[in-house]
Amino acid sequence: MSDKLHLLGISKAELEDLAAAAGEPRYRTTQVFKALHQRRLRSFDEITDLPKRLRATMAEKAVISSLSVESRYVSTDGTRRYLMKTADGYSVETVYIPTENRDTICFSSQSGCPLKCDFCLTAKLGLLRNLTPGEIVEQIIIVLNDVYGVGAETPHGTNLVGMGAGEPFLNFDNLIAALRIMADEDGLFIVPNRVTVSTAGIVPRIYDLAQLDDRPHLAISLAAPTDELRQRLMPINKKWDIDALMKAAKEFERSLKRGERFTFEYVMLGGVNDTDRHAVELANLLGRYRLKKVKVNLIPHNGAEQLDYTASTPEQVLRFKSILESRDVSAYVRSPRGRDIYAACGQLAAKSEGSRLDSARSAVLSA
Ligand code: SF4
Repeated sequence: MSDKLHLLGISKAELEDLAAAAGEPRYRTTQVFKALHQRRLRSFDEITDLPKRLRATMAEKAVISSLSVESRYVSTDGTRRYLMKTADGYSVETVYIPTENRDTICFSSQSGCPLKCDFCLTAKLGLLRNLTPGEIVEQIIIVLNDVYGVGAETPHGTNLVGMGAGEPFLNFDNLIAALRIMADEDGLFIVPNRVTVSTAGIVPRIYDLAQLDDRPHLAISLAAPTDELRQRLMPINKKWDIDALMKAAKEFERSLKRGERFTFEYVMLGGVNDTDRHAVELANLLGRYRLKKVKVNLIPHNGAEQLDYTASTPEQVLRFKSILESRDVSAYVRSPRGRDIYAACGQLAAKSEGSRLDSARSAVLSA
């Protein structure tokens, strides 16, 4: 990593301290912060309303761009997947998912992932390293500039999901720092209510999140209603079993405000965790812990050559959903996006040109 400070990863308050230490007037802080986050300028030279002298000094000590886009893949459904590289050569993947009234950007919190969820391609990479706050923020800026043009207003709000590569709660401090920077009204202004972060079940951090006033929405990846099965699918269950996870979820539920809910994500693996019995067990589990402010997102598995699982049939997904609903559990089916470009859930594994993408009919555009 470069020794230079990544300015996208520092808050306005920190920037103010730096400006004061350098003897710069106070108004420079907002000017620079807005240039980086609101106008989304990508080099110091583009900030032409700053004196040349100041731009040169800043460039000596800091960077505002450290990720490079290696490839960009565009799905037939409009989803875009970006394969980026950090300055020290680690892969970062980010996905843009357009829908009619909103855009969602799925960002990565780590390069690779140390957890070994059996149904996930990213797991095959192992952990490469945690991403810095600047690298997390920069992913969003790169995507917005690519989709709308540098600094152009976005037609509708942007939602963020921390469900790309990595386990966000193993990079908790950097994650929260990045989200706070992105929530600033002089910057991207993506407020916590528009952000959802998913964890595989890092229990202590669920308690920590419950303490934060400015926290994002929480999604917990469950994938199985019993310890025996969950342990097989998500080895993190050996460290924190379902009982520990549910107690943390209950505590989180207590901290929710009126009208708020949190989510359990349930990847649907054909014949493995998707039978009627599993649906009943799942409803019973939520009932045992009296979890009420919760919804279950059913996610049809996204296959890949290296994974041993197949997707549940659409009929079984609907059956599973109706069993949950008949037991008063709110359940939704998440439609997969960007499967053809390996952008769907659990598919991010730094796949690049020359890989199976070609046979997946993907449009490969150089960014
Ligand atoms: S599902 Fe998430 S936590 Fe599990 S291995 Fe994949 S990226 Fe990591």
